Amino acid sequence: MATDYDEVRPDVAESRNASLQAVRSANTPDARSVVREMDETDTVDGVELPGADLSAEELIIQVIPQADDEFTCYSCFLVRHRSQIARKKDSHAYCSDCEG
Ligand SMILES: [Zn+2]
Repeated sequence: MATDYDEVRPDVAESRNASLQAVRSANTPDARSVVREMDETDTVDGVELPGADLSAEELIIQVIPQADDEFTCYSCFLVRHRSQIARKKDSHAYCSDCEG
């Protein structure tokens, strides 16, 4: 009596078939429905990021005008006290840091 070891045992074949049925019946979205959902998202005012609405936020920067005894260095563009003017060229002043 010869035994065919290549033949799939009946119980194994049955479990394979059962798992295949489970995959087929699983509720997975097919490619077409995914594309449709993406199209619907695009039509709604672009992409909304939850918690990212900063339109109500105001960027508050207090602008302090340059005082009479201050100057803006023409090299580093920092506002410095007039005593730090190291060099003046034309109407531009340069601070002691930039002039060394
Ligand atoms: Zn400077």
